[in-house]
Amino acid sequence: MNHRGVKGTQDIFTPEVEVWRFIESTASRVFENFGFQEIRVPIIEHTDVFTRSIGETTDIVEKEMYTFQDKGGRSITLRPEGTAPVVRAFVQHSLYAKRPINKFYYTGPMFRYERPQAGRYRQFQQIGVEAFGSDDPRLDAEMLLMLKLLLEKLGLKDLDCQVNSIGCPECRPGYMDVVRAYFHDLYGELCSECQRRFEINPLRIMDCKAPKCRELRVGAPSVLDYLDNDCSRHFNALTGMLQALEVPYTVNPNLIRGLDYYTRTTFEVIASGLGAQNAVAAGGRYDGLVAEFGGPEKTPALGFAIGVERMVSLIKETYKHRRRPALFIAALSKEAEKMALILSGRLRGKGVWTEISYDSASLKSQMRRADKLNAEYVLIIGEEELKRGSAPLRNMNTKEQVDLWLDKVVEQFT
Ligand code: ATP
Ligand code: MG
Repeated sequence: MNHRGVKGTQDIFTPEVEVWRFIESTASRVFENFGFQEIRVPIIEHTDVFTRSIGETTDIVEKEMYTFQDKGGRSITLRPEGTAPVVRAFVQHSLYAKRPINKFYYTGPMFRYERPQAGRYRQFQQIGVEAFGSDDPRLDAEMLLMLKLLLEKLGLKDLDCQVNSIGCPECRPGYMDVVRAYFHDLYGELCSECQRRFEINPLRIMDCKAPKCRELRVGAPSVLDYLDNDCSRHFNALTGMLQALEVPYTVNPNLIRGLDYYTRTTFEVIASGLGAQNAVAAGGRYDGLVAEFGGPEKTPALGFAIGVERMVSLIKETYKHRRRPALFIAALSKEAEKMALILSGRLRGKGVWTEISYDSASLKSQMRRADKLNAEYVLIIGEEELKRGSAPLRNMNTKEQVDLWLDKVVEQFT
């Protein structure tokens, strides 16, 4: 039997788990202030929820999905991302009929069969948001402001928020032709994948991570020069609002996200200090996706997702809110052990983190254990203490010691 975890997965322990929880709880607080509600969707979906929305020729669908047949012969896929399942749920439950604007956030594991490396796993966690019902750039601006506020609250610095517009189904084909023409003479220098992309979707070349392809696209025509009037107005309005909201951004016309469903606004937050996998969050508009799922024709929407592992690695060094036990009860006799068990039960019942020993170790080794647990106080109970009804309570920071009545312990800590 193989007793090791699956390649590309991680086990996460305390104290790192606390950093995860800090990120998750901060995100839900910030999102809820912007009117986003939590949504929980399944980890498994019918495979075509992803193939049809993300696009047949994308990396995710071509190479990265965990797809299997269940016992009923259905093709099932472990979700590689959160947007398609949320849109599926939104349409299936006609949520558009309940309110004109619907805003959701979610958190959970995603699965992609990628080459594992720093910042890239096969099971990874995303926190994402999706907003439905308006194509007004205020919604885009608000979402970027929300992301900025969250990143600030998490204590992140040196971030670059890159924005772009990739136009709509009306103006994008024109740009696609220009891109194809640009890469025509460079074809031989493209990576083998981009040579294939050249035929089916040359825009993908703009998203390739191979250093040579990055280099080749430096002089490529900018998508922003090929937007139609409406898309252009939308993008200009967005950047104007970002300035008014004091959300710092840079325009990156090469930011063509590798999923089929994006329209108009795309964005990515890049962190220095993450190496090659440097995007902590990414998203954009997908004005046509709801209709593709059979929802109302005009339901514009947008969203983003944050990569939690990358976020954790950015903030774990500076994270300072570690929880510690309030009290360790050292017991030096059988009767004292019983008293420690009873007192710890009462304290825990009142919400006080209390620790006891589970073997009859010496005082010295119990004190060592209290130290290791970083307990704030230690109460030391022996035969003598039980007889007189009070015991020494030691403050582990100051080493000060006071005597505490045993029947007042719970009161003292609550
Ligand atoms: P990348 O360019 O790093 O491959 P992506 O464009 O595939 O990212 P998205 O699908 O936009 O990523 O997902 C949003 C975020 O999720 C990314 O910015 C990143 O932080 C995180 N992410 C994506 N794939 C992985 C992975 N395999 N392991 C860990 N985090 C990931
Ligand atoms: Mg990827």
